[in-house]
Amino acid sequence: MKVYVESESCIGCGLCVSLCPDVFKMNDSGKSEVKTNELSSLESEVKQCAESCPVNAIKIEE
Ligand code: SF4
Repeated sequence: MKVYVESESCIGCGLCVSLCPDVFKMNDSGKSEVKTNELSSLESEVKQCAESCPVNAIKIEE
């Protein structure tokens, strides 16, 4: 599984960083970005983050 954030869609609400701090971080532009692709133990959390993002900016590739 791969995950990425569409930075042009992200509104910087910080929700994904709160939910999954091991995967997402805020960058200097105030947008979320993925900080690791070691997701094997975090898949369900990452999926929950993607579903929770208010603008669907978190994309998952299976
Ligand atoms: S939840 Fe979505 S909009 Fe909010 S910071 Fe994360 S990627 Fe951006």
